[in-house]
Amino acid sequence: MNKIKNIIKTFALWELLKGLSVTLRNFFKPKTTIQYPEEKTPQSPRFRGLHALRRYPNGEERCIACKLCEAVCPALAITIESDESDDGTRRTTRYDIDLFKCIYCGFCEEACPVDAIVETRIHEYHMESPGENIMTKDKLLAVGDKYDEMIANDKKADAKYR
Ligand code: SF4
Ligand code: SF4
Repeated sequence: MNKIKNIIKTFALWELLKGLSVTLRNFFKPKTTIQYPEEKTPQSPRFRGLHALRRYPNGEERCIACKLCEAVCPALAITIESDESDDGTRRTTRYDIDLFKCIYCGFCEEACPVDAIVETRIHEYHMESPGENIMTKDKLLAVGDKYDEMIANDKKADAKYR
């Protein structure tokens, strides 16, 4: 009986009709696709994109070179070198993140005791030359300076989820 049913279905193009019915059902529904990049989907304040190093409002670097982020990074993407600064505090002399190694897990941000390293919501970036995948300390601080307001607002919004 099943065999006959299958033969009839094959000749009636049953699977094709079934597929087309799905198309027809969704044809008049509101569209779920958007015209990127003109249109953008909402982002969570917890989105993990490009990294940034933050400063305090007085301009002082937050990072105290404790290297917790380097230790916790599962992809070994962070390289830190540190030294004593003129004021006797410990500061990084090198802080590199290899974006090709990074898996955007957010562990570095979670581990940081002073909210220095963060992942911003920026995801539209690209590299054109070899070596641009390395986010140096200067580049990370520049991202932090440029998007400080957005980062601070995201941190506040994120606190509500915790
Ligand atoms: S997001 Fe994860 S993988 Fe990327 S640098 Fe931070 S800890 Fe490492
Ligand atoms: S970014 Fe944070 S966790 Fe990493 S070395 Fe600096 S203070 Fe420590």
